[in-house]
Amino acid sequence: MKIGDILINEGEKKKFTLGNISGTAFCGRNTGKTLVITAGVHGGEYVGIETALRLIKELEAEKLSGNVIICPVLNTDGFYDGVKQISTSDYKNLNREFPGDEKGTSTQRLAFDIEKYLYPTADFIVDLHGGDINENLIPLIFFPYGSGEDMKNYVGDIASRMSVNFRVGSYASNGLYSYATKKNIPAMLYERGAHGIWSEEDVLAEKKDLYKLMELLGIIKEGHDISINKKQKEIARAEYVEAECDGLWYPYVKQGQRVKKGELLGVLKNIEGEKLQEVAAKFDADILYYTLSLGVRKKDTLTAYGTE
Ligand SMILES: [Zn+2]
Repeated sequence: MKIGDILINEGEKKKFTLGNISGTAFCGRNTGKTLVITAGVHGGEYVGIETALRLIKELEAEKLSGNVIICPVLNTDGFYDGVKQISTSDYKNLNREFPGDEKGTSTQRLAFDIEKYLYPTADFIVDLHGGDINENLIPLIFFPYGSGEDMKNYVGDIASRMSVNFRVGSYASNGLYSYATKKNIPAMLYERGAHGIWSEEDVLAEKKDLYKLMELLGIIKEGHDISINKKQKEIARAEYVEAECDGLWYPYVKQGQRVKKGELLGVLKNIEGEKLQEVAAKFDADILYYTLSLGVRKKDTLTAYGTE
């Protein structure tokens, strides 16, 4: 297989650097599909990063029918600086910068390199995220609603076999996975873990799902249970509530909690304690995630909730 101009022979595992991207590629002994696993788009979402690193240690190219490319930390500045969502080199959020720009800032150039080197090799992309340092989140998958019915059905079916209990239809188009689906590459965003913590339990659960994904793509044949997860709900309607101004955020609900239409989910106050914004559920819903930070900026997401 080739990534850019780097050749990886059958049965070989190879570390590579192309432009601003580093990773490890596994070229199977037998031909088959190519799975691209990315993590660390957001440097504080650790479960995905640690899971990707474990897979790099565990996978054996000899045993694969197809290829796996793993980039465990794409936004290295954000990761080493321990910040939420952005790169500290240019303060941009990589997941809002697609399509990239070859002549742009460092994050825009990184997005460009991802499109240039990773997209063309991929039969499927899974981008690993989690609740960020300032968030609590219930494990979930975002999958494309805005890239055609075939894409929705194909990725939705794969998502439905993962262990997470929510798959959320998304119309996003400027992130790593969402822009890939616009280019007709099946892709999904997998979220597990939150608030700057990773646990062995979460890493093992996520790793199991990635092995299932490889099994579903025919890259491994190890007998993983790839049946439909009957507990999983498809969230067809979601609300992402933003702060209307800078303020102090007091959430009243937790991730995974079921709420009724009209129920108060939290309030935003000013420093004097006066109410600036009341957030109430517009419909009966499950809370997907919410912000933990007391101080929030205008347009920061306060909470997200959804229903089937
Ligand atoms: Zn993220």
